[in-house]
Amino acid sequence: MSGHLAVVGLGPGDARYLSAEAQDALASAQALYGYAPYLDRLPARAGQSRHPSANREERTRACAALTHAAQGARVAVVSGGDPGVFAMAAAVCEEIETGPQSWRALDLTIVPGITAMLAVAARVGAPLGHDFCALSLSDNLKPWEVIEQRLDAAASAGFVIALYNPVSHARPWQFGQAVERLRRHLSAATPVVFGRAVGRPDEDVRVVTLEGADAAPVDMATLVIVGSRETRVIARAGRSPVVYTPRAAAKVSA
Ligand code: SAH
Repeated sequence: MSGHLAVVGLGPGDARYLSAEAQDALASAQALYGYAPYLDRLPARAGQSRHPSANREERTRACAALTHAAQGARVAVVSGGDPGVFAMAAAVCEEIETGPQSWRALDLTIVPGITAMLAVAARVGAPLGHDFCALSLSDNLKPWEVIEQRLDAAASAGFVIALYNPVSHARPWQFGQAVERLRRHLSAATPVVFGRAVGRPDEDVRVVTLEGADAAPVDMATLVIVGSRETRVIARAGRSPVVYTPRAAAKVSA
């Protein structure tokens, strides 16, 4: 079978963050599939078809792209950031596992991209400088109780936590509840970074504390990094503060 499917990460928004491998995969594709605003970031190319879809239609989009590739075409599915982080690569794998055997014979390439937490972290310093984890606050695909358990476990174990999908129109209360949960484990002074639309013209990055975290503006385009007990803020006259997590952790008290 000659069909080829590439799952391509576009990075957080700035075209300079698109890797050379991603550019090659996009240029050589005969068909592009993806969430409409992501496809809008890409230039039109002669002879290349576009198949935009709505945000939450990942399964249908993955099936359509696999079906098209299985007909012998070179197909690319795009994701914002990295396709393996809360995005299309896992959706495509899920469909390959449960779909027709012929999908397993496809040439499959996952092209990594710069994920939102790395772009946001780079704006403020090195908050992910030591152990960290990433959690999606969306309870579309997992129960809210599981999210609460993971917040408890991560904060009490000393991980810096990157929170993806903090809110959406359908999920207005989750972020406030998550902040409340984290306050059980972390002091009010814990640094919290809000990075909105990083790499896009409407970018906004703020550093607050856990105490004020529920008052800070947050939306679907925001990635939140909650510091650990080790995370520090360096104030700088006339410049934005540097947030970092030192590489050496304090000893666990007996
Ligand atoms: N695959 C994407 C994540 C998809 S989940 C990646 O690797 O970045 C969608 C969430 O990612 C959003 O709710 C937001 O939390 C985060 N996000 C995506 N792009 C962002 C950007 N440019 N700036 C800040 N956060 C972003």
